[in-house]
Amino acid sequence: MISFYPGPSRVHDEIPKWVKDAHRLGILSMNHRSSEFVAISNRTVKLLRSKLRIPANFMVYFISSATECWEIIAQSLIQESSAHVYNGAFGEKWFAYTRRLKPGARAVSFQPQESPEVNQLIFPDAEVVCLTQNETSNGTQVSMDQIRSIQKSNPAALIAVDATSSMAGISLDFKSADIWFASVQKCFGLPAGLALMCCSAKARERMTKLGEAAHYNSLTFIDKMMQSGQTSFTPNVMGIYLLMRSLEKSKPIRQVDAIIRKRSALWENFFENAENLTLYIPNAKVRSKTVITLTGSAGTIARAKRKAKQKNMLLGEGYGDLKKTTLRIANFPALKDKEIQSLMKILKPLR
Ligand SMILES: *Cc1c(COP(=O)(O)O)cnc(C)c1O
Repeated sequence: MISFYPGPSRVHDEIPKWVKDAHRLGILSMNHRSSEFVAISNRTVKLLRSKLRIPANFMVYFISSATECWEIIAQSLIQESSAHVYNGAFGEKWFAYTRRLKPGARAVSFQPQESPEVNQLIFPDAEVVCLTQNETSNGTQVSMDQIRSIQKSNPAALIAVDATSSMAGISLDFKSADIWFASVQKCFGLPAGLALMCCSAKARERMTKLGEAAHYNSLTFIDKMMQSGQTSFTPNVMGIYLLMRSLEKSKPIRQVDAIIRKRSALWENFFENAENLTLYIPNAKVRSKTVITLTGSAGTIARAKRKAKQKNMLLGEGYGDLKKTTLRIANFPALKDKEIQSLMKILKPLR
């Protein structure tokens, strides 16, 4: 089954080989305090920096999920108030989770078809401004330019960006924010159970100033352990190893970005004059490059999913409220050109 679900999604073909290697090399039972583990951890971070262009003054941490990153930010980087700017289910969930820990969280929502009104996004009281770069639920994205202007107009705040379904797929301008995170079951093409969080020097200063240390995953502990390439609890060693192996052979992000944009243009052209199955986000300015969302009648959507399944391809269900009226197609790097062509062939008569 080829999974076009926008996460968990198709994994790299080499995964079975790498898992076998991990077993043969003793990595599956490796002690996470050993120098062998530290070498893998350090090498993985080094590869992340070079392949994804993560600046040298950002720390990179191994976390278990993007959801955990939401909680770590809420508990360790926010004392009272945060501002959440979102247009879909993941951004809203992040807000809801944060509010349970820090009731001072505030939300500003905007329409999926429109760009956020960047000039109005000024939050003098917010300690952290939270943005979802790629909203996986509806297939929209916030541009790097917009993130930069939000950073500019909120100089005192930390800018935190959920890039779960775009990191390792498109080029991110890490300097335009302080905290970036993603889990690996989307654009990284790896099995779930691992996430990465990148923090700027400014974020780490705030962490030190707050000194929050009440949780097993308090950022202060995570940061302290990572100074020596370690984690504050037994991490997903196999996941980290698979990440290292996949990064060793992955192209630099600029090349991956170009491929993703080319494929995204292919999909857009494919649905351009469609009648029955059309782009859910007609506004190209806000449309995601990595998650293609389509809308159509319930019948057409059900038929598309069924036809794809008959050919061993899994399409993404609509998310939350959009379950019946949309479907989603991942445009993640691990998917192959010929798989995309096969899927197009199936969808052609349904457009
Ligand atoms: C998938 C996703 C998440 C949740 O990721 P987990 O690894 O399951 O915690 C959060 N945010 C966005 C934007 C996502 O696409």
